[in-house]
Amino acid sequence: MSDVKTLSRLMRELENQLTVCMRCGMCQAVCPLFAETGREADVARGKLALLDGLLQEMFKDPKGVYERLNRCLLCGSCAANCPSGVSVLEIFIKSRAILTGFMGLSPAKKLLLKGMLSRPELFDRMAEWGSKFQKILTKPANEVIGTSCARFVSPLIGNRHFVPLAKTPFHRLMPALNTQIGRSGIKVAFFVGCLIDKFFPNVAQDVVLALHHHGVGVFIPQDQCCCGIPAISSGDTETFNRLLRHNLEIFDAEKIDYVVTSCATCTSTIKDIWPMMADKDSGFVQNRVATISKKVIDINQFLVSKIGIDKVDFNGHVEPVDITYHDPCHLKKSLGVSAEPRALIKAHPGYRLKEMPEPDRCCGLGGSFNLQYYDLSSNIGRIKINHILASECSTVATGCPACMLQLSDMLSKSGKNIRVRHPIQIYAELLKTYYGIT
Ligand code: SF4
Ligand code: SF4
Repeated sequence: MSDVKTLSRLMRELENQLTVCMRCGMCQAVCPLFAETGREADVARGKLALLDGLLQEMFKDPKGVYERLNRCLLCGSCAANCPSGVSVLEIFIKSRAILTGFMGLSPAKKLLLKGMLSRPELFDRMAEWGSKFQKILTKPANEVIGTSCARFVSPLIGNRHFVPLAKTPFHRLMPALNTQIGRSGIKVAFFVGCLIDKFFPNVAQDVVLALHHHGVGVFIPQDQCCCGIPAISSGDTETFNRLLRHNLEIFDAEKIDYVVTSCATCTSTIKDIWPMMADKDSGFVQNRVATISKKVIDINQFLVSKIGIDKVDFNGHVEPVDITYHDPCHLKKSLGVSAEPRALIKAHPGYRLKEMPEPDRCCGLGGSFNLQYYDLSSNIGRIKINHILASECSTVATGCPACMLQLSDMLSKSGKNIRVRHPIQIYAELLKTYYGIT
């Protein structure tokens, strides 16, 4: 009983935010998980009611509430459509931190987060070993998409089709960079992010290529690490704080104009979650977080709104390829960025943008949700794949490497040869073709 009282006391800080929910149920209509399961505990209203019950000491089962709270994609669809402006994601993230602090991490998460993610050097080394030895356990699945699958029956891989770890991660291709400001008069720092570094180093190379082309000075500090989202979404504040401090030390945002990223999740984490979680920290941390969170910007948005992109005309010499675009939740719903990636795609006359139905419907990945609830994640992803197929395009672009992984898995498993690209790859392709930049 005293445990329930202690937990209720810890949750008091969320009381004012929890009372904003008027239980209207409008979030039901937009929650991809509720659409799949129809369970009230899966939608924001149900989760908020459970948290309120814990706070009021009405429930004596924190573990049950914790499990239901974790069944969530953190996609933000509910928050973006809530008429009362409930800070759903802030409540979910802070309550996961409180509940994890109260009950502890599972052994698997402890190993992954505290044993690996919080030690960037070890994490990098393990990813490099994984890249060397992955072929022993896996075999190619789809050449067009570039996916692999399990060679033998494997409980770890299951029936997943996944993008393999890159042979050489970006931090080995370009360990650090500091170039002069060119014709743009702007200097940026490039926050690479784990998925881009380890799975899509070619996306990072294209970011640097586009920045160079536009005369933007680029600073890439050595020894970058994760933005902390896998840790904080699992409630591991200790690992999150460790990563945050490391990032604040190597990125001195005072000296640059913007911090660009090509990962929607990294951008929204730095912009929204870093300040949210640093609100009780030291003045030094708060000041640095405030500066960097104001300056962080998605690469598509940076090029379109701060620089101005090149448009060229091939005078009808090319038959355009049909391409469709998936809006990552963290880019559109959290940051309001949706026109800019489309503008990058449209700049290339070799592509014709055709919209799919509901382009901003969640792809179902949800970070660790995919690892924990793979079947549910795939069921949600299948709707997205049907929408992509309805567009009859041969390429799908999206501005988040996490969505790229999910779309690659789902398309490959359904036997479709549809390429998955990042909009910056399309734009860089234009720069390479038209200007001969390499
Ligand atoms: S979270 Fe918002 S949309 Fe959902 S029930 Fe509460 S007030 Fe309504
Ligand atoms: S964040 Fe997404 S999955 Fe979670 S409750 Fe809100 S809409 Fe549903």
